[in-house]
Amino acid sequence: MSTSNALPSTRAGTHAIVYGGSMAGLMTAGLLSRHFDRITLVERDRFQNGPMPRKGVPQAQHVHGLLTRGMDILAGIFPGIREDIEATGAEFLDVIETTASFGSGTWRPRFRSDVKAASMSRLLLEWVVRQRLQALPNVRILDGREAVGLKTNGERTHVTGLQIQAPGGGQEETLEAELVVDSSGRGSRTPQWLEALGYPRVEETRIHVDVGYASRLYRQPRGFDPGWRSLAIAPRLPKERRIGIIQEIEDDRWLALVGGWLGDAVSTADDAAFLEFARGLPQPHLYEAIKNAEPLGPIHLYRFSHHQRRHYERMPRFPEGLAVVGDAFCSFNPIYGQGMSTGAMQAEALGGCLRQGVRGASNRYRRRAGEILAGPWALATAGDLAFPEVEGKRPPGFDLMRWYGNRFQQLAGYDEETMKTFVQVQHMIESPAAMFSPRMVLKVLTVDPDKATRNPGPRPLSISTQRVA
Ligand SMILES: Cc1cc2nc3c(=O)[nH]c(=O)nc-3n(C[C@H](O)[C@H](O)[C@H](O)COP(=O)(O)OP(=O)(O)OC[C@H]3O[C@@H](n4cnc5c(N)ncnc54)[C@H](O)[C@@H]3O)c2cc1C
Repeated sequence: MSTSNALPSTRAGTHAIVYGGSMAGLMTAGLLSRHFDRITLVERDRFQNGPMPRKGVPQAQHVHGLLTRGMDILAGIFPGIREDIEATGAEFLDVIETTASFGSGTWRPRFRSDVKAASMSRLLLEWVVRQRLQALPNVRILDGREAVGLKTNGERTHVTGLQIQAPGGGQEETLEAELVVDSSGRGSRTPQWLEALGYPRVEETRIHVDVGYASRLYRQPRGFDPGWRSLAIAPRLPKERRIGIIQEIEDDRWLALVGGWLGDAVSTADDAAFLEFARGLPQPHLYEAIKNAEPLGPIHLYRFSHHQRRHYERMPRFPEGLAVVGDAFCSFNPIYGQGMSTGAMQAEALGGCLRQGVRGASNRYRRRAGEILAGPWALATAGDLAFPEVEGKRPPGFDLMRWYGNRFQQLAGYDEETMKTFVQVQHMIESPAAMFSPRMVLKVLTVDPDKATRNPGPRPLSISTQRVA
C-alpha cells in the first residue's frame, strides 16, 4: 500500500494554478509540476525565509504528526525529502517503540515496529516542503496575493483562470490556466463562487465537536530520561474528554499539547490554567514532565468547532478545469491527525486522474476524492459520535461497531499484533478491514480486559525527581 517511489510524470497541459500554499497546496503544486509545463502557486500570506509562523496557518504552532501514508506520498512527490528532513536534525522514530501511549484506560505495549514518523514541528515540515517546491524550475510562487474569484468560459462550463489581488484590495489580475486547484483551507470560498456561477450549492456535513487545543514549547531537559521520546494520554470516550501529548521536535524541544472535546479545554493562555488542566489528565506523566520544565514561548490556543465535509462528489454538475483539495474539501477533528495525509492522498489521486488528460479530470477527481475521504471520515467521526451530546447521523450498526472498537482497544492494551494493526490503520498503511480479519475477530471476542490493565506503563518523572545531567 505504501508509495515511496517517485510518482509518475505525464504531460496533461501547459499551465496549472494552485491557490493556498499550505501543506495541501504545496504537495499538489509539486505533484502538478509533473503534469504541466508551468505551475503558479498563489498564497495570501507573504512567505518568510524559514520555519516561521504565519497568519494563514495558525494551527502550525500545535502538534502535527504526518502519518506514514502521507509521508510516503510526500516522498513520491519530492523524492529524497526524507533525507532533507533528516538533514534538519529531525529523526524518523518508531511510533510504537518510542511513544508511551495511554488509551482506553491502559498503557499500550511498546515494541519495535515498521511504523515511523518524523519528530518535527509542523513549521519545519512545511518549510522543508516549501524549499523543495521553490527549487522546481517550472514552479512560480506568487505570495502576498489572494484568490478573489474564478474565471470561466462564456457558458460557465469550464474554469479557465483565477482572479487575484493583493490582500485588502488593489488592482485585480487574471491568470489563465487549464486547471485551477483550490487548496485554501476550511474557509475556502469555492461553494459561494460556484453558486454565483449558477451551480447548485455543494452539500456540506458538519459534526460539532468543539475541540480546544492549548500548546506550548519546552526545552527538553538535557539528560532527563522518562523512558519515552513522545507521550500520548488519550481519554476513554465518551466518559473522559481530555487529551495530552508531548511530541519531541527538532532542536531538543518538546511541544506539549493539552486539549479536550465539547468545550473541556484551556480557555486562557495562562501558566496556571495550562498546568492545572494537564494535572486533570487521566495519567500524571505529562504534568510531571512539564511542571518544572523551561517553557520556550507563550501558550497558543486553538478552537476547532466542527468536522466539515463538502460533498463535491455529489454535485450533479461541476465545471471542468477546477479541483478542490485538502481542508477545503474536508476538514477533520485534528486530534486524529489525518488532515495533511488525506490532502496528500487527494493530490496523488488528482495526479492519477490527470494521466488520462486534463479533459474530464475534474469530474474523475472529485468522485475519486469523495471515495478516498470515506474511510478517514468514518474513523475520525466514529470516536466523536460516541458522545451522546454530539449531533450527527450514526451509521447503521454504529453501536455494534463501538462495542467491537472498544474491545479491540482493550486487546491492543496487551496484544502486540492488535496494537500494530491499530497503529497501521491509524497511519493509513493498512485498511480498516484489517481490524476485522477472522483472526482478529476471534481475538477480539475472547479479549481479557483484566490483562490489559496490568501494564504499569512508565514511571511518572518530574525534572526534580530525576537528577538531570
Ligand atoms: C490544531 C490543529 C492540529 C492539527 N494537527 C494535525 C496533525 O497532527 N496531522 C495532520 O495531518 N493534520 C493536522 N491538522 C490539519 C492540518 O493542519 C491541515 O489538514 C493541513 O494544514 C492541510 O490543510 P490545507 O493545506 O488544505 O489548508 P490550510 O492549512 O488551512 O492552509 C490554507 C492556505 O491557504 C491560504 N489561503 C486562504 N485563502 C486564500 C486565498 N483566497 N488566496 C490565496 N491563499 C489563500 C492560507 O493563507 C493558507 O496558507 C491539524 C489542524 C489543526 C487546526
